[in-house]
Amino acid sequence: MTSMTVIDDGAPRAPGTAMMRGAMCRCPKCGAGSMFRGYLKVADDCPVCGEALYHHRADDAPPYMVIVAVGHIVVPILVLVEEIFRPAIWLHLAIFMPLTLLLSLAFLPPIKGALVGLQWALRMHGFDPRSPEHEPLPPAAPSKAP
Ligand SMILES: [Zn+2]
Repeated sequence: MTSMTVIDDGAPRAPGTAMMRGAMCRCPKCGAGSMFRGYLKVADDCPVCGEALYHHRADDAPPYMVIVAVGHIVVPILVLVEEIFRPAIWLHLAIFMPLTLLLSLAFLPPIKGALVGLQWALRMHGFDPRSPEHEPLPPAAPSKAP
């Protein structure tokens, strides 16, 4: 967490821009700082502009959207390959299981980033300082008890 304090000026936020920046795993406000501090762990705040990002509540939405997106890519290809080549089941598994896994892992960060960007742009949950869900401080890191 940085020591900067960012005050919401109430200016309109463009959802499309925020989602595009989020899909590039960048801060939805400035587009320069990294949104994530791990593979899928959203940073408490932007390292460049200091915008608080810990208010997001993406929860289970990114995996659901990844399932829909990857399913719409993999299933038509699988059906097409089956109709044209009729390969053995083991070959289907050898091709489409890794493809599904890799696409899912590749899609998760940008989809989660876009969702966090949308939540930020719409001032959902704690992103609205007047919301009862607004928490002034990021949640404490879990302690590593022996
Ligand atoms: Zn930023």
